[in-house]
Amino acid sequence: MTQDKQYAVGIDLGGTKILAAIVDQDGDIHSQGKIATQPQDGDQAVIRRIGDLVQDVWEQSGIGTDRICGIGIATAGIIDTVRQKVIYASNLNWNDVRIGDRMNERFGVPVELINDANAAAVAERTFGNARGTDDLIYVTVSTGVGAGIICGGRLITGVGDSAGEFGHISIHPEGPFCACGNRGCLENYVSGLALAKKAQALLKAGAESSLSAVGGGERDAITARDIGEAAENGDKLSIELLTQAGYFLGIGLTNLIHLFNPQVLVFGGGVIKNGRLLVEAAEQVIRERCISRMAKQASIQISTMEDTAGVLGAAGMFFQAERKKLAI
Ligand SMILES: [Zn+2]
Repeated sequence: MTQDKQYAVGIDLGGTKILAAIVDQDGDIHSQGKIATQPQDGDQAVIRRIGDLVQDVWEQSGIGTDRICGIGIATAGIIDTVRQKVIYASNLNWNDVRIGDRMNERFGVPVELINDANAAAVAERTFGNARGTDDLIYVTVSTGVGAGIICGGRLITGVGDSAGEFGHISIHPEGPFCACGNRGCLENYVSGLALAKKAQALLKAGAESSLSAVGGGERDAITARDIGEAAENGDKLSIELLTQAGYFLGIGLTNLIHLFNPQVLVFGGGVIKNGRLLVEAAEQVIRERCISRMAKQASIQISTMEDTAGVLGAAGMFFQAERKKLAI
């Protein structure tokens, strides 16, 4: 039976590191590798390095060329999934980069791009705890906030591959201006960056907290992870910050549940990993505010995929059964 297995290459292209893996149709990773992105070298150099990395993991796996269905690339930013190019990615400093063509020229297999939050949704649905459900939303809270939405078995991408910008729904009409043009965006209340900034501002204003000792008293060094750890150790300010962020996240999630009536809500991202209180506060808001039947139908889960969601989702797009089910 194993001879009939399908394999694909999954790539998770981030601003600091790039992961590549050979994945089979059951979600097992056969070989993997990681390199630093070093975007300052320019897009062509980065693409070359990605190619070398793919070649390495491919050779390591010992799987024949004819058994690899394709190469999937999960990345942040604005992408064009028809022309397989990155239109704009601030973390890579890329503008109009045709990565799909370049990878296809080198390896001769189909190449597909996917937004990183969408890739995580595909991974959860194909290989994760949400396997088999047709209605799933993956929500990531890390440096930013995003979502991958699978509704009625279809990955919702929108006409320009930009659907799921959960971080930019407004939860406060008069809230601070956001770089996207909107005001009061969820991301400005909930993201890792927002949490760190808020903590830094409160400490500057004289608030007492164990966070003041982080990084030898260097306020700029405080991260969302520090806040999560301090909260677990009973730091009042950190508990308050996470609870408040969870409150806003819960309002956003209530809107999402009311729009899509999901069966599973999967949380992922670095802030979630270290922010138990944030999730608890969000769940509390959902219980209080959501139409109760819809709240009960939405099972809330924490992703167990850690860093592999991107590569698994990128590869997962290629498995025929999944493609048909997902309509991607
Ligand atoms: Zn915004």
